Amino acid sequence: MPAVAGPSDRHRYLGALGSMVRSRLFTQRPFFLAHAVTFGCNSRCQTCSYWKLTPRMKEDPSTEEATALLDRAYAAGMRGYYLFGGEPLVRKDVGRLVDYAKQKGFVTTMNTNGSLLGAKAASLTGLDFAFVSLDYFTDYHDEIRGRPGSFRAVLHGIDRLREVTKAKVTLVTTISTLNLDAMEPMARLAKEMDVSISFNSVEPTLDFGLTDSELSPNFSLGLSAEQLRNFYRTLLRLKTEGYPLIETEYVLRDFVEGRPWRCEFPKMFVYVSPDLKIYTCDYRYGYDLRKGSFEEYFASAGFRRHVQEAESCNRCVRTCVRGYSYAYDLRIGNLLRLIDDARDLFGQHDKTPTPWGPASPISPTPGQVPRVRGS
Ligand code: SF4
Ligand code: SF4
Repeated sequence: MPAVAGPSDRHRYLGALGSMVRSRLFTQRPFFLAHAVTFGCNSRCQTCSYWKLTPRMKEDPSTEEATALLDRAYAAGMRGYYLFGGEPLVRKDVGRLVDYAKQKGFVTTMNTNGSLLGAKAASLTGLDFAFVSLDYFTDYHDEIRGRPGSFRAVLHGIDRLREVTKAKVTLVTTISTLNLDAMEPMARLAKEMDVSISFNSVEPTLDFGLTDSELSPNFSLGLSAEQLRNFYRTLLRLKTEGYPLIETEYVLRDFVEGRPWRCEFPKMFVYVSPDLKIYTCDYRYGYDLRKGSFEEYFASAGFRRHVQEAESCNRCVRTCVRGYSYAYDLRIGNLLRLIDDARDLFGQHDKTPTPWGPASPISPTPGQVPRVRGS
């Protein structure tokens, strides 16, 4: 595994912690650069519209533009780098971007559909955390994702990534009406693989560049209010039964009890599109970083308004947004749980290939009964 020169891991993690504390106590400005590094995607998920933007890949930033963005984010005090897309692994230079960020001093995180992980893992030695989408525990995942062979490719990719890098892996399962029965089997799969897992329910989004008339199909595949309540109850049950969910029991209990909360997301993450525009979490406010700077944006009335409106928004049903907000708020009850849970994420040592890997036939244990569609 080629070593990536640069600050030590300890230095980078302390730097990220310091940037969060600075934001929390003084600046209320984001410390995580969330960069959608490409408009391209190699899947056609039923629950997402983003793949329709693939022809816009010609607007993707060059390597130099993407690394210059990292320089600017670092100068603006950010110490976390979160790559997503589209599918970030469709970029040829993705490993170079991760290495550059790590050498600079960022903690590096990637959200990927995992289908190209096997081929690209060797170039990802600079990656700290990988969030890998997996929506089902059988090949039915391929149907949801619109990409034949991706279920096995994801499992093989995770094995490969853990073999050649130190990246900590979290499965991300998006629950819609297509896979309501996947929660417990997926939690069990994560436990067997010795990785963490995060569940989100699908929600309506307006993706970059789409208009109101092209709203994402999530509207038709989203959960009803009752299904959503069951979703949170099930998450809490799985958590208390010891499955490696990254959401804390504290956060999940508040979901179940329907407590209002304060969203701190805009103070933590800044979203940048492939064509270097800043968008708010509802993708409605654009600020062009090719014409201005992070500092100008953070000083703008638009940013301040967004921060203020977020505090009482409460719109997200996503567990991660609430989890991040509670961490930022330094809620003691949640922090104690977080420290406890961190062992699940940081204690991933077992790199034994999953029994579901491509070399082995899938052997669902009792309860992991593949769901039969259309019958
Ligand atoms: S959910 Fe991810 S993998 Fe699926 S189409 Fe959207 S961007 Fe691509
Ligand atoms: S709760 Fe509202 S402000 Fe916060 S991330 Fe969700 S949509 Fe944005």
